[in-house]
Amino acid sequence: MKYLVSFCFTLLSALPTLAQGTIPQSAQSQLAKELVIERVCKSPEVTSGAEFDELQRVEQKLGTVINQDRQHRTYVALANSPVINAWATNFNLNISMICVPVAMVHFMGDAEGELAFILSHEIGHTLDDRCKTEEGRLAVANSRGSLGAVLGGLLGGQKGAAAASKISQQRGCEERADEIGFYVFTASGYNPYDAAGAFGRIEMYLGDTRTGIFARLNALGSDHPMTPDRIRHMRVLLINNAVQKAGRGQ
Ligand SMILES: [Zn+2]
Repeated sequence: MKYLVSFCFTLLSALPTLAQGTIPQSAQSQLAKELVIERVCKSPEVTSGAEFDELQRVEQKLGTVINQDRQHRTYVALANSPVINAWATNFNLNISMICVPVAMVHFMGDAEGELAFILSHEIGHTLDDRCKTEEGRLAVANSRGSLGAVLGGLLGGQKGAAAASKISQQRGCEERADEIGFYVFTASGYNPYDAAGAFGRIEMYLGDTRTGIFARLNALGSDHPMTPDRIRHMRVLLINNAVQKAGRGQ
């Protein structure tokens, strides 16, 4: 893993990113890029076709906001994968890769705004430095005042507490990715309710907002569970957005 991280770090310095437009020149760096993408996205990259064009459209629109951030560099890869999910891998605090499987683009159909929110959520993970370290994630879990860790400790001892804390960290970081993503998404000009549309689509797919065992067995459900807390949090974001718009007389 250490090797992969340093390898990716060196390589990604040469990749075209959302933040900068350098293009690797040699065939060697092209090959290395393909290897990293296959490793991180678990399938080869797709670089043409309708799905690629769709994702490019979204990237360009979100890029108008993301390009203002010079600290983080993120490469978005469309992966030739049948998995309905998307994930961000942070190689260090500044360099990240987002994998968007072709199946996820299909799943979103012609709803560009919903796909844009999925990508924005992943961008949220790449921008959130706090959730990139163990210390930061613990602080996020503690600030949520989670009872989970206490109850987990009572029911399952140290192991139970650790597991509950892990869940609390994950949920906390998911909400933060929703919030950062929502800001990027709305600042890029997308309809805020497309974020709610994406939530609804995922909820119908998972079929269980309580994140029961069947939902969690699913890849999308295990790392992006659609919990009542997450839905409530999105409602708050939407209401705040409406209040701000009303304040601006929009
Ligand atoms: Zn996430």
